[in-house]
Amino acid sequence: MTDTPPKTRLATDLVHAGRIRSNLDENAEALFLTSGFTYESAELAEAVFANQIPHYQYSRFSNPTVTMLEQRLAKIEGAEVCRCTATGMAAVSAAVLCGLKSGQRVVAARALFGSCHWIVSTLLPQYGIEAVFVEGSNMDEWRAALSQPTALVLIETPSNPMLDIVDLREVAALTHAAGGIVVMDNVFATPLLQKPLELGADVVVYSTTKHIEGQGRVLGGAVLGSKQWMEEVFQPYFRNTGPAMSPFNAWVTLKGLETLVLRVNAQSASAEAIANFLETQPKVKRALYPTLASHPQRALAMSQMSGGGTLVTFELEGGKDAAFKFMNAMRIITISNNLGDTKSLATHPATTTHMRIGAEERAKLGISDGVIRLSVGLEDVQDLIEDITRSLAAI
Ligand SMILES: *Cc1c(COP(=O)(O)O)cnc(C)c1O
Repeated sequence: MTDTPPKTRLATDLVHAGRIRSNLDENAEALFLTSGFTYESAELAEAVFANQIPHYQYSRFSNPTVTMLEQRLAKIEGAEVCRCTATGMAAVSAAVLCGLKSGQRVVAARALFGSCHWIVSTLLPQYGIEAVFVEGSNMDEWRAALSQPTALVLIETPSNPMLDIVDLREVAALTHAAGGIVVMDNVFATPLLQKPLELGADVVVYSTTKHIEGQGRVLGGAVLGSKQWMEEVFQPYFRNTGPAMSPFNAWVTLKGLETLVLRVNAQSASAEAIANFLETQPKVKRALYPTLASHPQRALAMSQMSGGGTLVTFELEGGKDAAFKFMNAMRIITISNNLGDTKSLATHPATTTHMRIGAEERAKLGISDGVIRLSVGLEDVQDLIEDITRSLAAI
């Protein structure tokens, strides 16, 4: 008998990796709902604070239930270290802000989640950090922007909501040559369908609110990276600014994560079927899905993703009026700005998630008033196609 753990695969890791079992030998992961921890003696407290003995101190720094989720996410991502945060935006903002200094430069793809766009376009300049946006699919724009020293690049691929693809390998090589790091928001692809660290990214961030918890219950985020970056750059920021995840949310998310492969594979298969169906519909101007033959970046998508994901975006003929008639006629799919849920959700980006960026920026991104983003859930795909057929008829 040796102590070497067996080499395991993703589905096994999703239910076992990172488990911490208490001396009560519980089977399910325990919920350590405690803000603080105690010390048997003043000497022990002294040694713990001097980093001589590992011991939990305070749940803003770390908590055993949150540690289990962090260890599990690190294992499935293939990252050295993971830290979980209260929300996805806490993860993105901490990963971006922790290492930047005034006078530095950040480059980002224009197609970013709304709040990520605000951090780069509005917050960073307030601190004297130059922010440059490029068209994510245009390598000439990336080459021009990264011909100067750059501290950080923020990318989302596929992007929300138009499912544009950024060439992660190329952009990572250019970023490293410019002296910076790549922070990659991998929410849409999930840890199952795309491995940013293997493609050259330095830091991966998630909103665990989406597919990782997967059942629409609790908010959360995660930041994953190398031991060196996490310890030297991220940890001091994390400990002292306090974006920690609640142990309760970590406990719910651990249970959701167990079924990630089952959910994402089933939801992606349904999403692909729906995208194919939408393409045949006369009232649909275009359907966007990374694996569709008509997707302009299909080859690139397939070279960095192992599947198309759970989101389908489509544009209706007839603008906002058609989009609203479609959404109000849905009986199974519900109207929500969330995504990555077991329930199918439809969003009208122009009047909700992307309302604040303004008409001009929306036009640059191709988000017309006829665009609907569909997050495909776990319902029977035939029921979803019938719901879509019924809703198209209502236009
Ligand atoms: C939802 C989302 C976020 C923000 O996550 P929250 O958990 O809502 O804070 C960031 N990026 C992308 C791509 C998202 O979909």
